Amino acid sequence: MDPSPAAAESLLAFWAEAGVDAMLLEEPVDRIAAGRAAPPRPAQRTPAPAPSATPAAASGPDVSLIVEQARALAAAAPDFEALAAAIAAFDGCPLKTAGAASQSVFFRGDPAAPIVVVGEGPGQEEDRQGKPFVGRAGQLLDRMLAAAGLADRVFITNTVFWRPPGNRDPLAQEQAVCRPFLERAIALVQPKMLLLVGAPSAKSMLGTEQGILSLRGRWHEWRSGDGALELPALPTLHPAFLLRQPAAKKRAWADLLTLAERLDRPDRPA
Ligand code: URA
Repeated sequence: MDPSPAAAESLLAFWAEAGVDAMLLEEPVDRIAAGRAAPPRPAQRTPAPAPSATPAAASGPDVSLIVEQARALAAAAPDFEALAAAIAAFDGCPLKTAGAASQSVFFRGDPAAPIVVVGEGPGQEEDRQGKPFVGRAGQLLDRMLAAAGLADRVFITNTVFWRPPGNRDPLAQEQAVCRPFLERAIALVQPKMLLLVGAPSAKSMLGTEQGILSLRGRWHEWRSGDGALELPALPTLHPAFLLRQPAAKKRAWADLLTLAERLDRPDRPA
């Protein structure tokens, strides 16, 4: 029997409340490899992208070309306003047109903060508000940062600037094409250290396949793609994971204390 419109509507509302708000295939679609990514727009009043060492694959745009384009656009942004505009205009990240994102989500917090917090990517509420970490997980992150005395000392952003469909983890290639903008943001903030929130952030930023449970709570050295920036980076557990596994909160709390300790007492051996 076909459900009535009212029953169908109520079922859809139930699914949306439960987080099922996008139609997905079993496997994520790599739209860069499939050659379906829109070619990046030419930079306005910015230098032409440097030629890539790798020729474009016959099957579609070469990721390294898109990364070069992103790098040129990011490097040409002298401040956060210009960087936000460059991100919003960038068409090289497939997430922008994958169906879940209504706008780009760049940062919130202090543009001169001593700590840059890097999450994985925007969720539904972040996409709605255009700001990172403003949903339930973000509110927990804020409470924990405040309790550690770090509330006003953070610049918060993500590895990708568009919401992935169904809140899946961002793909490595999606992170790669967004990274030049993230690195430019870090260069503009000039923080003392990074807090890498969750596995997709820690793995992408540190270029490792190690799990978050072995990465977290220990200091790592993060280096920008061009080697110009080097910062201590501390991976920690994602607040969305903590909402599901409250018993793990004590480990994330210990990580925040490690971060605060190094910030306020930089001369003490780690
Ligand atoms: N999770 C993230 O990693 N980033 C956000 O902005 C929100 C949730």
